[in-house]
Order: sequence, then structure tokens, then C-alpha cells
Amino acid sequence: MSVGRRSGAQHDAFVAAAAPRTGDGPQPPTDPIHGDHAVRAVAGDGRILALAAVSTDLCEQARRRHGLWPTAAAAVGRVLTAAALLALPLKEGGSLTVTVSGDGPIGGIVADARPDGRVRGYALRPKVDLPPRPDGKLDVGGAVGARGLLRLARDLGLGQPYTGSSPLVSGEIADDFTAYLLRSEQVPSLVALGVLVGRGSTVQAAGGLVVQLLPDAPSDAAERIGANVDALGAISRAVEGGRTAEEIVADALAGYAPRTLERRGLRFRCTCSRRRLASVLASLPPAELRAMREEDGQAELVCRFCARRYLFRAAELLALETRAR
Ligand code: ZN
Repeated sequence: MSVGRRSGAQHDAFVAAAAPRTGDGPQPPTDPIHGDHAVRAVAGDGRILALAAVSTDLCEQARRRHGLWPTAAAAVGRVLTAAALLALPLKEGGSLTVTVSGDGPIGGIVADARPDGRVRGYALRPKVDLPPRPDGKLDVGGAVGARGLLRLARDLGLGQPYTGSSPLVSGEIADDFTAYLLRSEQVPSLVALGVLVGRGSTVQAAGGLVVQLLPDAPSDAAERIGANVDALGAISRAVEGGRTAEEIVADALAGYAPRTLERRGLRFRCTCSRRRLASVLASLPPAELRAMREEDGQAELVCRFCARRYLFRAAELLALETRAR
């Protein structure tokens, strides 16, 4: 991880802000859990796995922090929700990172999730809003682009992360995850993701569902569960109507006696800190720190994942510079 100066260099997760500000500004409040949650369930004698989430506040937090325009808000929300779901089965200390890189105007989306329900993420270009599709839905596929790659890395806390990738199918995200899970992990899966962006461009409801069929799953499961999910309708509308993740699983797996194994709160939460940013600055060549101090009088760094700003004044830069020498 490293930083760039205001001159425009960008690296990894952190970028220098375009314009310095005069203070750290108000710190974002601690995210309350509100009603967001996710569940992991099994059915069909353990041969059917299900993950479901209500992620409205998570998606709205992402929209607010990053200033996402409606189509971008839907695209990022779908990726955040999918990452949150797929991180649920990981062991404590593990994490999962999803990167969706398409040829559409959004440029790329990154999401990072942990099994305890912490999720963060961003879009390379947040100000994307396209005319709706003929069916009235937000044109997420148009914003993301249908040509590109979905990459997923699972860090199990054992050193080398497990990584896989597959080409995008439509850029609509749910289809792309379905293809990834089949192609890269050989698990037939049903993925449904929905983000409802309402008046005022705020996220009104969001959620997701992943159903996976293990070998020896009942032979009629794919067809019956597909029909159940069709009857359930759009996930975002189900969430808007007040359905919980448990109820979404119960509807999707009706006929297979689903059983909830665990439930977690979900929240937008980043791992950045002033101390981490200071260590990033301290790793820069002293000449670069001196240039920031003498030419800009300060350095302002913005966390790409959560958009939080960190200001380092000249005296702090001098101290880091002296330490680095
Ligand atoms: Zn951050």
C-alpha cells in the first residue's frame, strides 16, 4: 500500500485528494447495524446450501460515502451484497475480495468482506447514471460492461489466498457470480441480487440470495427452487416489503425443510486508520515527504475503500521525514 501526491499519482487503496482541506473534518459516525443481516442455512439433508442477506443500510452507506449516482449505487450495492454473502461461510479471520472489471463507464468495482459481517467497497468511477433499461430496471450491465472479468480471492488466514476468476457474462453481477461459481468453483448456484434506488437517489431496499446445490442434491431441486425464487419476485422488492433473510430462505427452499445455521449483522466498516496511513507515509522516500511539506504544507490522503480523509500537517510530515532518515 502506498500513497500518491496531489500531482495525481495513484496507488493501491489510497489516493491523495484532489484538493487539500483545512482540517480532518467530522469523522464518519460508527455505523449502526440497523436492520441489515445475513443468514447461512442448509436444506435437503445438507445437500442444499443457502445464503441470504438484507443489505439496505450497507448499500446506502456505500452510496453516501462515495457519492454514487443511481446506476453506480445499484452496481456497487450488488457487488457488496454478493461479497457479504460469500464471506459468511469463511472461518474467523478470513476475508474475501471481489473485483469486477468490465468495459463499462464505471471502470471497476472492488468489495471486501469478512465473515463477521464487515463489508467495504468502492467503484473506480462513482458518478455513473444511465437511462433505465426497457423493463424499467437500472442498467447495471451497461454501467459495468459485459466484457471483462470477475475475480475473487478468499484469504483463509493461512498465507496464500485462494483466487479464481471468470469472464463476465452480462455485467448485471448476479449472472456473473453464477457463472463464476460454476466455472471456477464447480458449484451450480442460483444468485439473485437486488438494489432498489428510490426518489432522492437513496437506496430504499437491497438484498441477495445464493443457493448452491452440492453433489447428490435432490434431482428436482434446481427446477423447484428456481420456481420458488421466481415466485418470490425481485429480492429488493421482498426486502422493501419487510421480508427478513430467514423468510427469503424459507420461500426459496420451500419443500426442502431449510434450517438456519447462523445469523450475522452486516455493516459497512473499513479497516483504515490514521496510524496505518502514517505508516504508509513513513514508507515514502524522505525527499517526497519533504516536497509535500514544503510545496503543499500538508498531505491529505483519502481511503479508497471508505472515502475517509486523513490530513497530515507539516509538523507531522517533518516528524515522519526525520524518522524515515
Ligand atoms: Zn477506509
